[in-house]
Amino acid sequence: MPTVKTLHARKRIALIAHDHKKAELIEWALYNKTVLCRHELYATGTTGKLIEENLDVPVRKLLSGPLGGDQQIGSMIAEGKIDVVIFFWDPMEALPHDPDIKALLRLGVVWNIPMASNRTSADFLLTSPLMHQEYEVRLPDYSQYLGRKV
Ligand code: PGA
Repeated sequence: MPTVKTLHARKRIALIAHDHKKAELIEWALYNKTVLCRHELYATGTTGKLIEENLDVPVRKLLSGPLGGDQQIGSMIAEGKIDVVIFFWDPMEALPHDPDIKALLRLGVVWNIPMASNRTSADFLLTSPLMHQEYEVRLPDYSQYLGRKV
C-alpha cells in the first residue's frame, strides 16, 4: 500500500452543510467564489443545489445527506476521489443520520485529508497556499493492520 498520495493543485472539494448551517455555508461560499471556482466542487444534494443556485457554478451533486449523501462522500474519500472536506455540521441538533456523519468524518481522518468543520477553519484552509499547489499526503502506515493474522 502506498504511503503517500498526491493532492493536485486543482482539488476535489466536498461541501456539506446541515440545515441550520446552510445559510452560513452559502454566505461563506459566495465570499470565496473566486477561489472555489479554481477547484472541482462536490456536495450533498440540497447543499449542492443551493450552491449552484446562489453561486452559479457547477457542482457534482450526490444524494441528500440523510438519504446516503454523507456515505457517498465517505466512500469517495476512501477511494481517493475527494481531496478536501468543508462540512458545516450542526453541534446543536441531533440528526437521524448521525452514524453517517461520524463515518464520513472518521474516513477523513483515516485517509488524512484536510477537513474543516466550521467557518473559521474553512477560512484558514481555503487561504492556505497548499490549496493551489500539489501536496503529498502522508498516509498512516496501515501495513501492520493489513498484514495481521486473524
Ligand atoms: P443535504 O445533506 O445537503 O442534502 O441537506 C446534508 C447533510 O445533512 O448531511
